[in-house]
Amino acid sequence: MAERFVVVIVTAVDVYQSGLLRGMRRRLAEAGIGLVAHLDDPQIPGLPESLRCILLHNTPAGVITTNCLSEVEELAMFRLLDSLGIPAVHIAQDLPGASCVRGDNVMGMTLLMEHLLDGVGVRRPLFVRGLSHQPDHLERERVFRRELARRGIPFDEDLVIVGESDRDTTYRETARLLRRHRDLDAVVTTDDWCALGAMRALTDVGLRVPEQAVVTGFDNYPLASLTWPGLTTVDQNLERQGATAAELLLARMDGAPPAGTVLVPCRLVARGSTLATSPEDPEAVSRAVTMARTGHANLTVNRGVLELSRELIHCRDLDQVSRTLASRVAGLGLTRCFLVAYEHSSATITADGVRHRHARLVLDHGAGGENPTDADLFLSCQILPARQRAESFNGFLVYLPLTVLDRQLGYLLFEPDLGPVPVSETLRMDLSRTLDTVFSTQEMRRHAATLEELVVQRTRDLEQANGELQRMALLDGLTRIANRSAFQAHLREHWSERTDADDPLALLMIDIDLFKSFNDRYGHLAGDEALRRVAALLDLSTHGAEDLACRYGGEEFAVVLPGTGLSGAQAVAARFCRSLDEAAIPHEESSVAPVVTVSIGIAVSASRDDGDPVDLVQAADTALYQAKSLGRNRIALHR
Ligand code: GH3
Ligand code: MG
Ligand code: MG
Repeated sequence: MAERFVVVIVTAVDVYQSGLLRGMRRRLAEAGIGLVAHLDDPQIPGLPESLRCILLHNTPAGVITTNCLSEVEELAMFRLLDSLGIPAVHIAQDLPGASCVRGDNVMGMTLLMEHLLDGVGVRRPLFVRGLSHQPDHLERERVFRRELARRGIPFDEDLVIVGESDRDTTYRETARLLRRHRDLDAVVTTDDWCALGAMRALTDVGLRVPEQAVVTGFDNYPLASLTWPGLTTVDQNLERQGATAAELLLARMDGAPPAGTVLVPCRLVARGSTLATSPEDPEAVSRAVTMARTGHANLTVNRGVLELSRELIHCRDLDQVSRTLASRVAGLGLTRCFLVAYEHSSATITADGVRHRHARLVLDHGAGGENPTDADLFLSCQILPARQRAESFNGFLVYLPLTVLDRQLGYLLFEPDLGPVPVSETLRMDLSRTLDTVFSTQEMRRHAATLEELVVQRTRDLEQANGELQRMALLDGLTRIANRSAFQAHLREHWSERTDADDPLALLMIDIDLFKSFNDRYGHLAGDEALRRVAALLDLSTHGAEDLACRYGGEEFAVVLPGTGLSGAQAVAARFCRSLDEAAIPHEESSVAPVVTVSIGIAVSASRDDGDPVDLVQAADTALYQAKSLGRNRIALHR
């Protein structure tokens, strides 16, 4: 029976999500339920395949969403959850008829505005809008305007800029506005990122914070306490939001009806950006200590991240990636870490519209430390191989898909400490790029090997074809025995290769008797067939490895017999005559015999110094002429 677990869908495990996750993790652990945070890359459209895979094939007990899907994806998601009957809770979303959790923006912003307008005495604020489409940010702006209006404080519409929740954008926009307006006494923002950018722009033009202008943020991210002066902000109690979401989900899992929207109270965190602090302030020391600690934690993790990045650049294969990552697990604040790489050479299996890939566990770093991995493949829908499967839905894990463009490379499962310094984004980028490089290199190597093989095969084919061609060039087309070129080459070769002075070489010249009349009587086709049969018999009559029977031309044949003297040559000639006799190819027109007969001239070169091979041919020819003139169907020797 699989562990009960809940899936939370997030775009990252950044400071915002870390707060929520801490709360969920705590509450779910109390209930003995695991938590898997699935990271969805917002750059890739559609519901991630890996998420569908978890929902369809691993049946979580519930799902928490964190306002991170596009509208289309959200709809697809809700349909899927509905069809599977999986209860869900939504954070920072208002969905009618569902269980939703959000920070009480109205309360938080009201507290902040009371602090600014009634406590500090702000009268001419600049407003920085974070994300124009973000409901939380819009709500904060509404309260900002309402609180000003309530007190009859006019608001100059010239003093609104859009910071896109980005430090640099806000810095640029604020700096531009400060060139026109210096007569402002506060910068109120929808989020900490904007506040940090604005604060830098103010101090850059020489405006002192908080003496000349105060600055506020929202969200109370760890970085807000790391600035000097510290940033006044609103803590929307992310951890409690997470815990509340988990609580609502547990109720839904127990069959309770949807709870509607539950607001989590916010808290004002007043720091130096709105309060002039004196060095005697007793809280100053404890704040400085917190800053130093947070700064130190930042530096430590960033160093780990940098070193991992540097080492991964040198990885050539998955083994090296595994070793490198294993050595950095502790430094990155990870308790557990499993790296899974897809096997690209094997096919995928599609079921329920989800592609299941063959995958390999590359790093197995469980709670008890690193374990050896085996090379066995498993299907990606199982998340982890059978042996490690108990780990996957136990406690808290982040499921981080590793992709480059549309190339799915694998995934990382890890348990972060959810401290002030998030590492998921670095891991995603570094590991995706590294796997991509490793796989590309492997593919290139495979491709090169295939090409090499192909070249070897082609060369072999070519050599074979070449050999065939050469052989064909030396064969007689009709009789398929050696032709005259082969004869000449063979004769010359053996003539010149003779080393011993008394190394004989014999030559037979053979001519079919009265073959013209054979053709006349039986026709040319039958003549061709007779030539083939005679050639075959001649070929069979030569036994020596270097003996060569060939068609000299027309109905004339020759036999080269290297290392053979007169008696050997006579034996070959006699053997041939005998076999021709036995074949008894009818030749009714012949005046010599009723069958096809031949005349043979034999010449032997007894020693190496015996002149030229042409002379030997001439001599054999002379002998042949003699055989003819003596009445044909006989063997004559040249003496
Ligand atoms: P001899 O006994 O004096 O050698 O008489 P012969 O008729 O054999 O000699 P001749 O030189 O007068 O004729 C050779 C004949 O061989 C002529 C030609 O028709 C025949 N011949 C040569 N090459 C081929 C061939 O490729 N196919 C066929 N069917 N006949 C061929
Ligand atoms: Mg002839
Ligand atoms: Mg003839």
